[in-house]
Amino acid sequence: MRTIPKEKREMSRAPMITPMTSRGQELRRMQEELKRALKKPVEERNWVMVVNPKKCTACFACVVACMAENVSPPGVSYRVVPEVEMGEYPQVSRTFMPTNCVQCDNPPCMKAANAVKPESLTKRPDGIVAIDYKKFRGREVFEKAAQACPYTALYFDDGRFWTEGTPALQPYEQVENFEYGKRWGRVGGSPPVGTARKCHFCLHRLNAGMLPACVTTCDGGVTYFGDLNDPKSLVSELLTTHRSLRLKVGLGTKPRVYYLVDDTQAAENLKACLACHR
Ligand code: SF4
Ligand code: SF4
Repeated sequence: MRTIPKEKREMSRAPMITPMTSRGQELRRMQEELKRALKKPVEERNWVMVVNPKKCTACFACVVACMAENVSPPGVSYRVVPEVEMGEYPQVSRTFMPTNCVQCDNPPCMKAANAVKPESLTKRPDGIVAIDYKKFRGREVFEKAAQACPYTALYFDDGRFWTEGTPALQPYEQVENFEYGKRWGRVGGSPPVGTARKCHFCLHRLNAGMLPACVTTCDGGVTYFGDLNDPKSLVSELLTTHRSLRLKVGLGTKPRVYYLVDDTQAAENLKACLACHR
């Protein structure tokens, strides 16, 4: 019988080490932090998103992932990546600015919507602004809330399908989604048809121990997510070691999405992005 040399036997017992990209390490770290946060009571979690626009190449992977996760119909995209071009040739720079609902701590949409349909929007203790798809019904309440939102983050689900008018409605449009931890199917006009839709930080995924879809698919490592109450979290570390800004803080909305701006040019480009939000 052939004997395996001792050093080879030891090698075979060694764990398989797969080289990890730095993004892989970041994702693993954020995943562990999420597990840690989920062990705490909900009111002790403090979810925030951190975006580094300098790394964004506008690949739109986050947009597609979000639409697939939430089965978004035409006219609804919780995540968008607007582009701003600055300067004149040959001194031209472009910034891509991934944005979604910033989960305001003082959300003007909530006051506007609840004045029409009480409790149709709520602020959760972990910071997420949640839509009640059964209470938030109709165009009127949507118009009020959308006009109040300074971030153009709300969309109306008018019941259309991408493949309607083609020989067959495709199965991927007929699947249920799991927003807010419930099962929703749009076929036949059930909610969320007829209601407002927006980013919810992928609450259903968080509660299942998964990071938001836009975070896990972002190949460029642009988007981070975590618990700001955890001083050891990656988001806490990023926000203490980098300069950051939040959009339209002057309005008192207290947004939960931070943009890293380590150099003056980045800050200038982001200010230019604000032009779209005026
Ligand atoms: S970004 Fe708009 S929709 Fe989101 S919480 Fe703030 S006001 Fe509401
Ligand atoms: S957190 Fe979820 S819902 Fe929000 S933009 Fe990302 S993928 Fe979409």
